[in-house]
Amino acid sequence: MKVLVINAGSSSLKYQLFDMKNESVLASGRVERIGMDSSIVTHEPVGKEEVVEVKEILDHITAVSRVIDMLIHAEHGVVKSMAEIDAVGHRIVHGGEIFKNSVIVTDAVKSEIRRLFELAPLHNPAHMMGIVAVEMNLPNVPQVVVFDTAFHQTMPKTSYLYAIPKSLYKRHKVRRYGFHGTSHAYVSDVAAKVLDKELASLKMITCHIGNGGSLTAILDGQSFDTSMGMTPLEGLMMGTRSGDLDPAIVPFVMNKEELTLNEVNSMLNKHSGLLAVSGLSSDMREITDAMDDNEEAKLAFDMYVYRVKKYIGSYAAAMNGLDVMVFTAGVGENSVVLRKAVCEGLTFLGIELDEELNAKRSKEPRVISTPNSRVKVMVVPTNEELLIARDTYNLVK
Ligand code: ADP
Repeated sequence: MKVLVINAGSSSLKYQLFDMKNESVLASGRVERIGMDSSIVTHEPVGKEEVVEVKEILDHITAVSRVIDMLIHAEHGVVKSMAEIDAVGHRIVHGGEIFKNSVIVTDAVKSEIRRLFELAPLHNPAHMMGIVAVEMNLPNVPQVVVFDTAFHQTMPKTSYLYAIPKSLYKRHKVRRYGFHGTSHAYVSDVAAKVLDKELASLKMITCHIGNGGSLTAILDGQSFDTSMGMTPLEGLMMGTRSGDLDPAIVPFVMNKEELTLNEVNSMLNKHSGLLAVSGLSSDMREITDAMDDNEEAKLAFDMYVYRVKKYIGSYAAAMNGLDVMVFTAGVGENSVVLRKAVCEGLTFLGIELDEELNAKRSKEPRVISTPNSRVKVMVVPTNEELLIARDTYNLVK
């Protein structure tokens, strides 16, 4: 069975075609600047040359149609015809409280996703455009939706409720949902397999640290707590997001600076984090490259690391112990300095990093702690697309 995985954003669409026989990727690519005058399609067929095409693509329906054209193209294609695409899996950011697992798309599922637009106004409407675009282009192909929030639906009330009036939860579903669930689920599963242990027997913290970042405490094989909340703003300091802050700051700053709701939202989501503290960049590479002779970049890095450590400490306490800690995503997989800084001073928890193993570059999941380290520290490259393809395959087959 061949499964097409789609991650549709408001002006972009990423795709990967998997052959589920051996879970290999046949092609991947992206369509950028959808709805603008010169859209860009970048198609990477495995074993063939990359193709870049600049062309007007006004909507998602046309974008999906271009993707299919590329996949079946005589020269750049990887399958003979559309009929070879057996199923399509979509990444959906918000599944609310309704979706605890991946599901096959039906009219009822689509209505529920629409009802969740208000919880993820930037993401869910774009995902829906992707679903509709596939329906128009591949009318008889089953579609599956995989939610970033689903893995965290196992959190207990003590983790997911805010200490605010109950009516807000009842009326508006104001609670913590957590995100990056597909990634936390994938890397925890791989980590347990590499260690040859049952996931359910391990107390684990998975650190998904990219542009956005979240930590998850995994107990009994399930998400017990995670650092993102009702939206992906809560928790760690991120590239451009503030992460945790005293909520009283919001009305205070709105009043002092005469900001609107949109302006304060944009300040906290797009103009905070590493970017605000360093005054230099939201990109961790630029921060670490600059920090030896730039005090503000160093401060941004130190604050970022300090917050990761605070969450590690609190989750170890919440689980009454820790067996495995996993780093993943852009920063977690690549930044040797960040991993070193995070692990420093955590020997009391049983964390001892092996500096040589930490410095080694590899695309493989691996242990980077010393043989004596009580906690196994690991790097596991994430692969959300593969998990989406697997869920799609399992539901459709
Ligand atoms: P997103 O949240 O957009 O999916 P990614 O997981 O791709 O983000 O992570 C992007 C981040 O990873 C950027 O801040 C980038 O600087 C960082 N990154 C990538 N490679 C390195 C590296 N070698 N060293 C430090 N940071 C890196």
